[in-house]
Amino acid sequence: MPSKHQASRETSTINPLANSKGVKRLCEVCQKAAHLQCTKCCVTFYCDTEHQRADWVGIHERICQLLVPIRTPPPLYSLLSDRDARRAQTLLKQEQLIEISREVAQSKLSEGKYQEALPAARLSLRCAMDVYGPSAVQLVPAYLLLGEANMGLGSLPQAEEYLSQAEWTVMKKPDCGQAVRHQLHRSLGRLHTAKGNLEAALLSFANDVYYASEEYGLHSTVTCSGYFLMANVFVKQGKMPIAHSLYSEVASTWHSHLTKQFESHTDDAHKSIVSSEAPFDKAQQAEVEHMLTTILDAGEKDSRQEDTAQTALVAHCLAMLWYLGGDRLKALGFGSRALQLSKLEPNHNLTEPIQDLLQLVQKRTHTPQ
Ligand SMILES: [Zn+2]
Ligand SMILES: [Zn+2]
Repeated sequence: MPSKHQASRETSTINPLANSKGVKRLCEVCQKAAHLQCTKCCVTFYCDTEHQRADWVGIHERICQLLVPIRTPPPLYSLLSDRDARRAQTLLKQEQLIEISREVAQSKLSEGKYQEALPAARLSLRCAMDVYGPSAVQLVPAYLLLGEANMGLGSLPQAEEYLSQAEWTVMKKPDCGQAVRHQLHRSLGRLHTAKGNLEAALLSFANDVYYASEEYGLHSTVTCSGYFLMANVFVKQGKMPIAHSLYSEVASTWHSHLTKQFESHTDDAHKSIVSSEAPFDKAQQAEVEHMLTTILDAGEKDSRQEDTAQTALVAHCLAMLWYLGGDRLKALGFGSRALQLSKLEPNHNLTEPIQDLLQLVQKRTHTPQ
């Protein structure tokens, strides 16, 4: 990422009004008349250094060179067959661009960098429009990213506009997939929650859970994130028993998922397979941690005895999560807490795996690798 100084060095002043064909050049960020050009790709323009810098940090750094073949006009007198081949190649590159910008926007959103997510989300929308047309269902992921980014920034009317576009697009395509519908309803649920329309939020999350379970299965981690969001709404409504029962569904789904991950990880370790990849990336790890910590806190606020077992289960989840994420101290902390709690209400199915985990963490902490 260039500093402000570097960013301005990478720009040069160009003819502000027109390119060689007399077409006005527009700023990549705000679509106003451009006065600056990216000197690395020479096909991207900006109205000022601030917008250039925002775009660089948001997405341009990743795709600067990819834009060159997409945005360079074809030579005028090329053969027809050459032109077709070129068009096919450009299409492939455009699809790649849509994919990359979606991934970048998504990962910025998961890190809570809403402002930085905007350039990537906007580019993904513009490019999807170029490739698929203005009312294609392929535009929906970009609308949702823009909706989520604006929600994160507190611009609810903007968010609502993008989500209405997404809703409208999905409504006109009855054959559009379950995965898209699940994502749409999840975003709508978040918007209703932010606006305080809790009943509407519950309805959207119920749809989200329905479509997610059709696509990924009832006990998948994707579906259970929908239960988690519903539970949070019930907490806001003060309906604690139903919130607890949904939280407990989420906890048990994650417990079996993490147990499987943990077992396959330790199996690999026994077979000395070095797995270089952590099972979660940073953003996923943060999202799961947020869910489990919320459930843990909710359980601890409730001193009824039947929650002790669940709190132990969630602490065990967090211990496994941190173990897999490579933070052994946190794994040790949550593991010890899980063991303490599980002894209050003896349950060998839980106590034994916790003890195994703790032994493993202690062994690893004392043996330098
Ligand atoms: Zn601009
Ligand atoms: Zn560039």
